[in-house]
Amino acid sequence: MAESVELPGRLAILPFRNKVLLPGAFIRIRCTSQSSVKLVEQELWQREEKGLIGILPVQDAAETTSMDSMLSQGVGSESCERSSNAQVSTSDAHKVDGKNPSEVIHWHNRGVAARALHLSRGVEKPSGRVTYIVVLEGLCRFNIEELNTRGPYCTAKISPLEMTKSGYFLISIFYLLTCSEMEQVEQDPDFVTLSRQFKAIAMELISILEQKQKTGGRIKVLLETLPFHKLADIFVASFEISFEEQLCMLDSVDPKVRLSKATELVDRHLQSIRVAEKITQKVEGQLSKSQKEYLLRQQMRAIKEELGDNDDDEDDLASLERKMQNAGMPSNIWKHAQRELRRLKKMQPQQPGYNSSRVYLDLLADLPWQKASEEQEMDLKAAKDHLDCDHYGLVKIKQRIIEYLAVRKLKPDARGPVLCFVGPPGVGKTSLASSIAAALGRKFIRISLGGVKDEADIRGHRRTYIGSMPGRLIDGLKRVGVCNPVMLLDEIDKTGSDVRGDPASALLEVLDPEQNKSFNDHYLNVPFDLSKVIFVATANRMQPIPPPLLDRMEVIELPGYIAEEKLRIAMQHLIPRVLDQHGLSSAFLQIPEDMVKLVIQRYTREAGVRNLERNLAALARAAAVRVAEREQAVSVSKDVHKITSPLLDSRLAEGAEMEMEVIPIGVNNHEISNAFRIASPLVVDEAMLEKILGPPRFDDREAADRVATPGVSVGLVWTAFGGEVQFVEATSVVGNGELHLTGQLGDVIKESAQIALTWVRARVADLKLAAAEETDLLQGKDIHIHFPAGAVPKDGPSAGVTLVTALVSLFSQKNVRADTAMTGEMTLRGLVLPVGGVKDKVLAAHRYGIKRVILPERNLKDLVEVPAAVLSSLEILVAKRMEDVLEHAFDGGCPWRQHQHSKL
Ligand code: ADP
Repeated sequence: MAESVELPGRLAILPFRNKVLLPGAFIRIRCTSQSSVKLVEQELWQREEKGLIGILPVQDAAETTSMDSMLSQGVGSESCERSSNAQVSTSDAHKVDGKNPSEVIHWHNRGVAARALHLSRGVEKPSGRVTYIVVLEGLCRFNIEELNTRGPYCTAKISPLEMTKSGYFLISIFYLLTCSEMEQVEQDPDFVTLSRQFKAIAMELISILEQKQKTGGRIKVLLETLPFHKLADIFVASFEISFEEQLCMLDSVDPKVRLSKATELVDRHLQSIRVAEKITQKVEGQLSKSQKEYLLRQQMRAIKEELGDNDDDEDDLASLERKMQNAGMPSNIWKHAQRELRRLKKMQPQQPGYNSSRVYLDLLADLPWQKASEEQEMDLKAAKDHLDCDHYGLVKIKQRIIEYLAVRKLKPDARGPVLCFVGPPGVGKTSLASSIAAALGRKFIRISLGGVKDEADIRGHRRTYIGSMPGRLIDGLKRVGVCNPVMLLDEIDKTGSDVRGDPASALLEVLDPEQNKSFNDHYLNVPFDLSKVIFVATANRMQPIPPPLLDRMEVIELPGYIAEEKLRIAMQHLIPRVLDQHGLSSAFLQIPEDMVKLVIQRYTREAGVRNLERNLAALARAAAVRVAEREQAVSVSKDVHKITSPLLDSRLAEGAEMEMEVIPIGVNNHEISNAFRIASPLVVDEAMLEKILGPPRFDDREAADRVATPGVSVGLVWTAFGGEVQFVEATSVVGNGELHLTGQLGDVIKESAQIALTWVRARVADLKLAAAEETDLLQGKDIHIHFPAGAVPKDGPSAGVTLVTALVSLFSQKNVRADTAMTGEMTLRGLVLPVGGVKDKVLAAHRYGIKRVILPERNLKDLVEVPAAVLSSLEILVAKRMEDVLEHAFDGGCPWRQHQHSKL
């Protein structure tokens, strides 16, 4: 470090552009410009002893601020930059010239003498230009007395500004510091205080650096050995400070000024280190928790790997990826899935969204993109046998199904209509659909649409929703695991629309062969091909099905069964199935035909056979209990065997011929108990029926009993459960001529009651309900009409004729015939209009044991759908006008007709 240096009166000057070399600093520069190369060659390279040169800061005129004194000359300069390893390269001085010839360069009037510590020479290729790399050490400040820019490089007459340690007098025109003066300065209390301050702050900086880089030791030694005014330069030289500050430092010739300036700069540097540290600490604090978790997880993974434990996340994801690869996704969906998997891999399992992403990918991997059950070569004969074997009757329906299958056989990808079975519950809609699947050799899946009001139930929720799920169709496909199942859309008439969208519109897309190739489930968010699915729908009623949906389906109606059919179904299908389900056989339980008939008549009154099946199951359950009880008794016989067994064993051991005797005894206990049972199967009788099923719920006398008083008539209505018999009761009480209606009635049925009452009042005389036409039937009376059962909502116009009949019966005090039921809408003028659901209504009348049915004339055509067996047991009476109804409803005909007859 700067030992004694004698400065010559003249120095070669190397200009540093926008850069200052301070005493005590080292710098490595690359000289490429003509003038600098010349300078190095002549002043340093060719000299034997290491020469001194002057480093002078220069500044572009534009950047000049308030500089004390400057000389301006239009000459090139060496600029240099400091890099982290203190290497500085100088730009070409000629380039500076070339850039802007009129550019004015300001030369600073103070510089630093520098000694070359190391020199190396190189040749630039391909130009062949010589360049030098010089390592310089800043020694001491000097003042420019006179600058000479002529010649190959600049030279200057200089005067020293600082004194060296050896105590030379370094004289400048501005300062004159003698050794004794330096000593004086060092004893100056201000300087001492400043030195102390500087030392304290410098130590602080060093200790921080020590912690960080472990390099503080060397600097500490410097701090102890060098004078403070030199240390100030060394410290500041190592900081990144602005050019202006560097100049200011260079100009601080007075040791006190220099020290205070250096203290300020070191302090600033210290502050900036502290702030930076604070920020990193903060960031680290935030990161550390997740990093810690991550580290622990990595360790756990490593431990698990070591233990051969395979159930960690990575294996999990690897198996998921394998599953995805085997799922046979189309390429675009595969890309989408991979993107999602990449995202998942980057997540921590605790991160929000990890699980949902995982579940989503699982779904993608589970969906049957290509997996299909192999369609067997279809044998129509076998399919027909299958249908016949599973279902009794339903001849026309089976025929239609066979036609459907035949078309599929000839053209497997035919876009035939979607079959829709419409009928009351329990008539075999679901089981027919599953038979279709069996006939085609495909898997069967039932999607229940009853009560679906939200479109998202069909299409799924978008994944942005919390708890989002795929729609029922995609979920069903995932469950069934093949892309070509027979999918039953059950109760398609029970979907409704509300604010949450219209499920029917989503179903439209599903059933439309043009659109279902790329069905879009919101959750899945990629199209799924539904075109291979065979859709079959069921509904209880056709009416509520939205017309566009109905348009895409072929409706096959199942009207319900008559008692005889139910009996056959029970004997051939239900009883064997129920026995099997309960682990019984006909050897345990026998239900004779008459008992089944009684169950049908007394315990069920339905269009289908579901309640019948339920009642039969109740019988089977009771039988199972008895059989189980008997088995206990049989176990006694098991013990007998046990006693004999050791005897047998010993006998067997005596000789092989004895084996012959073992065989009959070897009959197992099960067979013995079977033999026991066969001896006495449980046969259901009437008493047992009542014991198990309770007292009879229905009988044929119901109608007769209920119609035993005037004012009651028997109507036929249509509900989701098929046809029903509906009684109408009317009575009059003292009042003001008001009409009261009860029984959960809708607006249409209420209006029908009004019409009926008005019609009757208008025909008071004709019907001989009162002596004169003027007499008001309602004078001093209120009429009350009630529709039992009171809790069931009712509506529709078809009760019109029944209402009139009840009122006429009330006013004439004549009983309506108990064996006659009626249906029909009535106009105010007394015309009888046709109604819907005639077939179901006729079947219902038959079930109730009704013998005569009054129908609107225009409904006669509907009777073709009614089974002949039912028609033959019923008398169908046709009505064109209300009078016709009354004529049929009362014994002896309508009072009006009687009146006319008497006239004749
Ligand atoms: P739905 O779907 O119409 O409500 P299901 O198909 O569930 O009725 O039928 C109810 C029960 O009745 C099933 O066990 C079914 O096998 C049986 N069933 C209905 N009709 C027949 C029939 N014609 N032959 C044999 N079993 C039948």
